[in-house]
Amino acid sequence: MKEDLQKVADIISNSKSMIAFTGAGVSVESGIPPFRGPNGLWSRYDPQCLDLDYFHLNPVESWKAIKSIFYDFFGKASYNGAHKVLAQLEEKGLLKAVVTQNIDNLHQEAGSKIVYEFHGNSQKLICLQCGKIYLPSEVNLDELPPKCVKDKKILKPDFVFFGEDIPEVAYRKSLQAARAADVVLVIGTTGEVMPAAMIPTEAKRNGAIVIEINTEESNYTDGITDFFLQGKASELLEEIYTLIN
Ligand code: NAD
Repeated sequence: MKEDLQKVADIISNSKSMIAFTGAGVSVESGIPPFRGPNGLWSRYDPQCLDLDYFHLNPVESWKAIKSIFYDFFGKASYNGAHKVLAQLEEKGLLKAVVTQNIDNLHQEAGSKIVYEFHGNSQKLICLQCGKIYLPSEVNLDELPPKCVKDKKILKPDFVFFGEDIPEVAYRKSLQAARAADVVLVIGTTGEVMPAAMIPTEAKRNGAIVIEINTEESNYTDGITDFFLQGKASELLEEIYTLIN
């Protein structure tokens, strides 16, 4: 492992167009559980609360679960060492973009500037009528569903629900960055959610070296991964960062 960490640090130091592709695992050490698995969010909540049709038909029921998961809980989480190292790599000019499936805003809070949010962001709410954006702090979540002050229509969290398209700009820019990448860091993702899961595969098809960090093997490990580093994202990234000159 030590030898691999040094090799990976050297590859990162010499990269020209590296990107990171992150999933729920990068935020686990911030206290946000993944969706799947025994302690995952879906063991406590019904995924249909994030289904677009269900949301329109049952806004109060959907909003009760959304408030509990994304505002009472996510809203209080802070970034961890993994988010911080990615922001530092960008500042050093070694990381060109973070493509994230996460919706928790923690990459930006850690200082990352170029973040393509494949599934949107829970820390913004949008009026489905006029498109006005609100911050959670500007909205009264004691009365559900929250409504736009202008036209009294329901607000929706600005992340991608089941049955909704991927935001067009994030999709296009993520693919561009993946196709231009010489290295891709794949951190804390199972690679099961499509179409996001194709980002590392696109990078690999265009010649990128795939470095994977995960506590467990994923869909990528036996297929496209060149270096599999098993362990916690923050511990491994912090160690790699100390080896980068
Ligand atoms: P996932 O829940 O399918 O998988 C999480 C992955 O993280 C697993 O492979 C697991 O082994 C790994 N992992 C767990 N702890 C880790 C750690 N400390 N260090 C490194 N790896 C660790 O997540 P996914 O593949 O990202 O896809 C699920 C979907 O759920 C995504 O679309 C995402 O939008 C959404 N989601 C987001 C958040 C968030 O914003 N923080 C949280 C839950 C789910």
